[in-house]
Amino acid sequence: MVEFDFDLFVIGAGSGGVRAARMAAASGMRVAVAEDRYMGGTCVNVGCVPKKLFVYGSSYGEAFEDSAAYGWCNRGAEFEWETLRNNTASEVARLNGIYRKLLADAGVAVIEGRASLESPNAVVVNQKQYTAERILIATGSWPFVPDFPGREHVITSNEVFSMPEFPQRMLVVGGGYIAVEFAGIFAGLGAKTHLSYRRDLFLRGFDGEIRAFVREEMRKKGVRLHFNHRICAIDKRDNGSLLVRAEDGSTLEVDAVLYATGRQANTKGLGLEKLGVVLHRDGTISVDDNFRTSVHSIYALGDVTGEPQLTPVALAEAMALVKHLRTGEPVEMDYNNIPTAVFCQPNIGTVGLSEEEARDSGIPVVVYKSEFRPMRHTVSGRDERTLMKLVVDSRDDRVVGVHMVGQDAGEIIQGMAIALKAGATKKTFDQTVGIHPTAAEEFVTMR
Ligand code: FAD
Ligand code: NDP
Repeated sequence: MVEFDFDLFVIGAGSGGVRAARMAAASGMRVAVAEDRYMGGTCVNVGCVPKKLFVYGSSYGEAFEDSAAYGWCNRGAEFEWETLRNNTASEVARLNGIYRKLLADAGVAVIEGRASLESPNAVVVNQKQYTAERILIATGSWPFVPDFPGREHVITSNEVFSMPEFPQRMLVVGGGYIAVEFAGIFAGLGAKTHLSYRRDLFLRGFDGEIRAFVREEMRKKGVRLHFNHRICAIDKRDNGSLLVRAEDGSTLEVDAVLYATGRQANTKGLGLEKLGVVLHRDGTISVDDNFRTSVHSIYALGDVTGEPQLTPVALAEAMALVKHLRTGEPVEMDYNNIPTAVFCQPNIGTVGLSEEEARDSGIPVVVYKSEFRPMRHTVSGRDERTLMKLVVDSRDDRVVGVHMVGQDAGEIIQGMAIALKAGATKKTFDQTVGIHPTAAEEFVTMR
């Protein structure tokens, strides 16, 4: 019998890796985790956490304005970038410590450094070899920036949280989660903000009406939207500003350009090719239903295996894998009805099928909608609206999609996701008594 140093060696202490390491150690396995950059991974350091704090930060400008109609005097409130940036960094540092302690308390050996695979049962970190019965790759993903002249002048979500200066003129490129969220953040913080997207409407894959509604809300908040806009070059001028050239001949002059054009699996230098670990064409690691790669002792989960790239998905996969390793039972991971939120202003919250997806899959749908001015703005006078939408399968009355654009949509949709998981019908929604006065009660009063 071969004696290994560890039962499980995890590469990457991000959302998935930390959860897997902790759970595995708690179930009695001897576990190590290698991390070369930051404890807690993308989500804690350059993702969900600092992003959400920036979203909160960006909401105060409007709140100050709106408060006047409620009797508050707020003359001369000014935004100071260094305070938001530094306080966010301190909170991230606090969380790093918590993650480190969680692992130590669980008895996980934390090894700092870049790991690579030496053999199906051996990992090397800082020239030292560790053997393990099983290896888990949870190395996440990294921002992708296309190649073009001037690419070196742009930043990504990795750098945006620590910019030395606040850009008074900002261009965000992309049409996914990060682009839409950061366009809202910079506009809210007072920058003249542009968003450039290569097709005719951002947030491809989300419900069509939700996308169009967000477009209008963002316009109202002053974000300059450039659709069907393809950037071909960026020049740095002598005064430090960036001149952005598009294929249609137009130009934009800004202080910073944030590229949010997707993320690529973090597999470089891991030694996967040498061991014959099969990758998909987009570079993500191919795994079976039990998160096993093409090499028997090597597993992978989270962003490195592809979409959906969301923290709760990486966490759920980690817990499912550890249960599988502990019991030998097949993994039960349900990727249906994963709720998600885009923290633009107002937020999008969504779960289940978009109206288009439902129709395309042949479901005869009935759609219920409610669009209104949120109560808060009846007095503030702000021209911000909320949209709520239910997509119902008319054959069995089952609610197959719930979508919302409005304040706290993410908070509200979490509960709706439980209803969908439980197979709620429109009748169940109708039989549910509302909470008044809330926006959420609209979901149970639509007729
Ligand atoms: P990661 O968290 O990326 O962890 C991978 C870790 O592996 C990293 O710490 C990395 O340093 C380490 N690593 C890589 N290679 C090696 C190596 N060779 N040796 C040692 N260590 C290595 N998701 C949400 O659900 N909600 C949100 O609001 C949200 N906001 C986001 C905002 C931004 C700006 C970004 C970029 C992402 C956001 N996400 C959000 C996505 C979320 O952060 C990821 O889905 C999640 O972090 C994936 O977890 P993971 O464990 O797969 O990888
Ligand atoms: P997304 O995959 O969401 O969006 C990428 C965008 O970039 C798309 O609009 C895409 O356009 C565009 N794009 C891709 N390649 C190019 C190119 N060569 N030139 C111009 N545009 C291009 O990625 P993000 O970077 O926004 O975020 C990464 C992931 O992180 C998200 O998918 C999400 O899973 C996660 N995340 C989650 C958040 C949350 O839960 N709130 C917040 C932030 C991130 P097209 O539509 O044409 O393909």
